[in-house]
Amino acid sequence: MRKFVILSLVAALSACAASETKTPPKPGVATLDVRRTAASTKALDEIAAAYLRLTLEIGTHEAGYIDAYYGPPELKTAAEAAPRDKAALLTATRELMAQIDLAARRIPDPLAKRRATFLRAQLRAAETRLMMMQGARFSFADEAERLFGVRPRLKPLASYDAELAKIEALVPGDGALPDRVEAYLDAFTIPKDRLQKTFDAAIARCRGRSMAHIPMPVGESFRLEFVTGKSWSGYNYYQGGYHSLIQVNTDLPIRLSRALDLGCHEGYPGHHLLNMKLEEKLVKERGWSEFSVYPLYSPQSLIAEGSANYGIDLAFPESSKADTERDVLMPIAEIAVPSDDRYWQLLKAIKGASGARLTIAQQYLDGVIDRPTAVALTQKYLLVSPQRAEQSVSFTDQYRSYVINYGLGETMVRAYVERGRPSRDEMWRRMAKIVSEPTLPADLLAR
Ligand SMILES: [Zn+2]
Repeated sequence: MRKFVILSLVAALSACAASETKTPPKPGVATLDVRRTAASTKALDEIAAAYLRLTLEIGTHEAGYIDAYYGPPELKTAAEAAPRDKAALLTATRELMAQIDLAARRIPDPLAKRRATFLRAQLRAAETRLMMMQGARFSFADEAERLFGVRPRLKPLASYDAELAKIEALVPGDGALPDRVEAYLDAFTIPKDRLQKTFDAAIARCRGRSMAHIPMPVGESFRLEFVTGKSWSGYNYYQGGYHSLIQVNTDLPIRLSRALDLGCHEGYPGHHLLNMKLEEKLVKERGWSEFSVYPLYSPQSLIAEGSANYGIDLAFPESSKADTERDVLMPIAEIAVPSDDRYWQLLKAIKGASGARLTIAQQYLDGVIDRPTAVALTQKYLLVSPQRAEQSVSFTDQYRSYVINYGLGETMVRAYVERGRPSRDEMWRRMAKIVSEPTLPADLLAR
């Protein structure tokens, strides 16, 4: 039924456009634009409502597909009560893609155009995921491009060897380099009974720095929980109404650097802030219902992970992260403050080699290397223990090409925000724009 409504709206739009050529240009243009805008908004609203229902139904076929949903509960109940099967959902997805292609040609408003382009990209990701649920397999690069809207170009592993040499010089001694790094960093583990206090202090600082630049809805909040048995190290479950549940995985010892990293990434100006701004600006102010659902395997994730990762450097530029850790967090965590900068130099060098994770994931998922080799290379290039390497490869097993969203997403958000060496205020303004609009990876490349 919904399909016919949309088709008739598209027909109305066509009629509207056809009459344009017959209208004398000057007196009719303004009226015509208003009529076209109203009609295209209505058409997009219909497509968005169909996309929302479709996404909720796809979610019934794969646990974790829906990362967040805070629209009307009855829509979710209805989708769960009678979901279409995967084949029918794939057909419906393709029909919606065709309808949006038709409608998009006649949208005069630039932001509404971006809304249509965004929906189109989300639908292409849904199509791909449905095909994967039915057994289709793509190459790593094809899968990443179809799901997340950007084709990764990965560096060879050997290009990270220079970073390994830096790390070698920072942690000299006998034994394997990853073991030496782990042993050195163990001194910066937050004791379990100091976790809550340290994270509370870290998140408060991430929030304060973000709030100074991006206004936040009144009454916003999050709940922090420590959990075990996960393949990730932290997760934000956005619950709508400007509330998040942030979980931190304590399967492996938590190092001090994770406090500000997770506080910014999962909280401010990362996932919690992004979800709040989308709810405030797009769902509540504009009534764009499609943003009340967030399918994990979609271009929205590249924006989410990229802005969350880059948000750490935006909130704590230059030496301010090390200063906050040394002066505030180490005393709270009861970690002995080092007398030199080696700890921070080491973390910087480790981050310099972290892009290797994408190349390892690509080689593993494309069948170039087997699992034990992927674990061994993860140990070598990410400088981690066998247990941490195992956790990293388990993440790749579960989320596959999703790994590009972190490193590549961060690179793309950084390039967009820092283009032309802007002032810090301008950098925050650009960040606010990314998290408050229907942003796609391609928007970050546009000049
Ligand atoms: Zn994340």
